[in-house]
Amino acid sequence: MPEQLCDSLWRASSLKAPELAQLEGRLSFDVAIVGGGFTGLSAALHLAKLGVSVVVIEAQEIGFGGSGRNVGLANAGLWLEPDQLDKTIGAEAGKTLYDALAVAPDYVFGLIDAYDIDCEAVRHGTLHAGVGKLGLAQLERRYEQMARRGAPVTLLNASDAQSRIGSEKFNSALFDPRAGTIQPLAYARGLAFAAIKEGAQLFDYSPVSKIEPTQDGWSLQTEKGEVQAGKVILATNAYCEYGIKDQARKFVPIFYSQLASKPLTEQQLARVLPNKEGVWDTCTVMRLVSFRQARTVYFRRNGRSG
Ligand SMILES: Cc1cc2nc3c(=O)[nH]c(=O)nc-3n(C[C@H](O)[C@H](O)[C@H](O)COP(=O)(O)OP(=O)(O)OC[C@H]3O[C@@H](n4cnc5c(N)ncnc54)[C@H](O)[C@@H]3O)c2cc1C
Repeated sequence: MPEQLCDSLWRASSLKAPELAQLEGRLSFDVAIVGGGFTGLSAALHLAKLGVSVVVIEAQEIGFGGSGRNVGLANAGLWLEPDQLDKTIGAEAGKTLYDALAVAPDYVFGLIDAYDIDCEAVRHGTLHAGVGKLGLAQLERRYEQMARRGAPVTLLNASDAQSRIGSEKFNSALFDPRAGTIQPLAYARGLAFAAIKEGAQLFDYSPVSKIEPTQDGWSLQTEKGEVQAGKVILATNAYCEYGIKDQARKFVPIFYSQLASKPLTEQQLARVLPNKEGVWDTCTVMRLVSFRQARTVYFRRNGRSG
């Protein structure tokens, strides 16, 4: 395992990654995709299925970014409340995004079925658990806004929420039966296998350091290779360390921790989430360190002094 990759439950419990090579030499494709997370891999899979010649170039390993480290909730909506979404991007765009996200779990679980992806997929819904008065008020607002848009959600009272979750810390929960959970790194690796099966080419450990326009499209450069492509999809999320995007000053890195318990006993399993829903709650999940601290950590990680 390369030094920069920390170990995680997802890495320890995922199906194996496809064996890929570094990009070398000069190759040509219709479409070049930079970044091997959910965005890049899904785009590659669908383009390849349409008969387009497509390559994915990943700087590290497949699923190295958020795709291989997230919580694994396949949700049918956004963190933002639906009315806030409309206010932020306008009612028409808000509706388009809301409608697309409402069927997103169908899409994800559909791909898992179609390509037989072994990623601990469980589609038993999610419980958005309420904490305190503000949490309850937030869930009541969400429930009203989602029900108004036709979502099949249910607002559970304290006693139902507590018995479904197995904890007395929550005073309510919004149940969304459309959602579910996945092992995210295994899903990303499964998407990579599916894209390869459809004819896409994938390379790992090949950071793209330069993208330049050419007469017929684009030229992408890595340390040992070069790709000529008619079109480029930048699926690099917020990463900016390879010099192809000048985003450094627009992002403040925030570091996250994830905890895994020891395997639960049969008795505990019968009490904690007996129906195996995914759970998230109304608390603030990001405990922000001060900007100064964040900057120091960021610079240290990037080998610069703060
Ligand atoms: C802690 C955490 C928890 C989350 N929980 C959830 C959740 O429960 N449910 C949910 O739906 N979403 C969740 N998310 C969000 C979700 O993980 C992301 O939205 C999603 O993974 C983004 O996928 P992506 O493919 O766009 O980006 P990424 O997965 O970040 O992939 C970008 C890739 O681009 C590569 N790259 C960058 N620059 C270059 C370059 N120059 N050359 C080549 N490759 C490059 C990177 O190495 C990386 O692999 C969570 C995110 C985090 C961080």
